[in-house]
Amino acid sequence: MKKEKCKYCGGPLIFRLRPDTVHYGEMVCIKCGRHNYWVSAPREENTRRRTSKFSLEQVAKFHGMDKPRCFFCLRTKDQLGEHETLTIDHIIELQLGGKDSLENLQILCTACHKLKNWSRLYLNWHFNGKEVNMVNEGGSKQNERRKS
Ligand SMILES: [Zn+2]
Ligand SMILES: [Zn+2]
Repeated sequence: MKKEKCKYCGGPLIFRLRPDTVHYGEMVCIKCGRHNYWVSAPREENTRRRTSKFSLEQVAKFHGMDKPRCFFCLRTKDQLGEHETLTIDHIIELQLGGKDSLENLQILCTACHKLKNWSRLYLNWHFNGKEVNMVNEGGSKQNERRKS
């Protein structure tokens, strides 16, 4: 990741996931703590929206759950935040040869899905030196509202 500087104080920026918002994450200054800009999901995640032929209920039942829950945090739909939802995730991705079969499916909430994708990208970057592909969303009007 390239070094970026805070637009307010010139301090170093770090990426922080923001599953509690409609955004993927944000760049925050370590020094002054100010929000600099929003970061949208890695391109990979956006194009990977392939769904399964199975339903949430089928996946939950197959794994012995009473009802659909996130496999990571165990929350049900009622326990999720406003911008969150439960999705079916392929444990081994289809493009990597994974199958759309119940054994290869898990349920993830929006937050845990982001974490999974982010950690995968991070590990890839860490071990293979591949650049993490983060796109600045540009529209910074909403930024102003939520920093304080
Ligand atoms: Zn700063
Ligand atoms: Zn979760």
